[in-house]
Amino acid sequence: ARTFFVGGNFKMNGSKELITKLVGDLKAAKLDSSVEVVIAVPAPYIDLASSIAKGSQVQVAAENCYVKNSGAFTGEISPEMIKDNGSNWVVLGHSERRHIFGEKDALIAEKAKFAIENGLKVIYCIGELKEEREANKTMEVNTVQIEALAKVIKPEDWKNVVIAYEPVWAIGTGLTATPQDAQDVHKELRVVLTKLVNADVAEKTQILYGGSVSGATCVELGAQPDIDGFLVGGASLKPEFVNIINTPQ
Ligand code: 13P
Repeated sequence: ARTFFVGGNFKMNGSKELITKLVGDLKAAKLDSSVEVVIAVPAPYIDLASSIAKGSQVQVAAENCYVKNSGAFTGEISPEMIKDNGSNWVVLGHSERRHIFGEKDALIAEKAKFAIENGLKVIYCIGELKEEREANKTMEVNTVQIEALAKVIKPEDWKNVVIAYEPVWAIGTGLTATPQDAQDVHKELRVVLTKLVNADVAEKTQILYGGSVSGATCVELGAQPDIDGFLVGGASLKPEFVNIINTPQ
């Protein structure tokens, strides 16, 4: 059985004061101890969040990284720097990185490869646009995004990868995918992983759903057999994040 995993993506939100409060509150909350909890925070707060979370069930992630550990790459951060700040995770390929900052599959896959080689675990985000879903291209688009990664990492590297399926039309819109729609995609993604990698990886890789997950929608979504948890945006900044972490299994 795959471990239930709840990620919080704070995006470009927070301050020293707010991060201190949010991570402190999470640390003090009664969390289901069987759930993996990882919060992604802006780079300037990785050290602060990691220091507060230390010794608890809460782990911290970076929201991006580059494909080198140092050098003349103004504005970028490296896996070594992320680890040096107490974090072992990075979110890559988020739809905002893809669509606002123009990141393409090949670069995102290279980032994941480099991050894994340098000891980080990766939350690898994929998802189709509204137009793509309406044109019945959902699986085609998600397959291309997974294939980019499958081409560059080794089968044994997948133990350090969590996939987050986040349909772009559901992010920040309040339009959560129906549990059945999300389940259908997650199930198909395992078929894709079986073809591109192998059946063992398809069975063991955690596949999260993301896109307007809330305390109200998490129960039905979490009950789907191929949904192994969530990547939560807006609601990860609110008290209901605790309820989402504690989604009944
Ligand atoms: P929302 O939960 O705010 O829709 O954001 C989802 C997301 O982008 C998580 O990475």
